Parts: sequence; C-alpha cells; structure tokens
Amino acid sequence: MVKNYVEVIVDEVIMDLVSNEEKTFFACTCEFCMDNIKAMALNRLKPFYVTCKVGEVFGNFQSKEVQNRVDVLAEIVRAKEIVAKNPHHDDSNYPTK
Ligand SMILES: [Zn+2]
Repeated sequence: MVKNYVEVIVDEVIMDLVSNEEKTFFACTCEFCMDNIKAMALNRLKPFYVTCKVGEVFGNFQSKEVQNRVDVLAEIVRAKEIVAKNPHHDDSNYPTK
C-alpha cells in the first residue's frame, strides 16, 4: 500500500484546527466544504508517497515536518478563504485550481 504522507499531515492540521480553540477558523465544517478545502490544499502541495514499511524515506520527511506543516497550514488557510467566499455545499465537483 502506498500513501501520500502529505495527506496525513493535511488531515492532522485540519483536525487540530477543527477541534482546538479555533472553532471559527472555518466558515463551514460540513463534509463538502472540508473536502473542498482538503482537495484544494493537496492539489497545491507536493505529494510525498511512503509505503507501509516506513523507513528512511519516512524519517527524512519527518525531519522536515515542521516546514511541511507550515506549508500545509498556508495552503489550508488559502483554501478555506476561497471556500468561505464561494461555498458549494451540494456540489462535490467544486473546481480546484
Ligand atoms: Zn459547507
């Protein structure tokens, strides 16, 4: 199994923002808006694929994790502002760019 480790970080950052003190960070936390934000952020972030047998590659990525989280957060902030201005709660084909 191959996994995009950047997606794991995106999920973690979003979960932190939703569950912590930043309850008003997202204009809407419905499934569609959160998926749109996640997809938009992932489309702009460089993927980093790891296998289930995580080894040196995973370690190398973790050593850069602080910077990666900063990059991820910046893209989530950008995406959530776009979604807040133009929510598509009923449209799962929200265009991403
Ligand atoms: Zn919504």
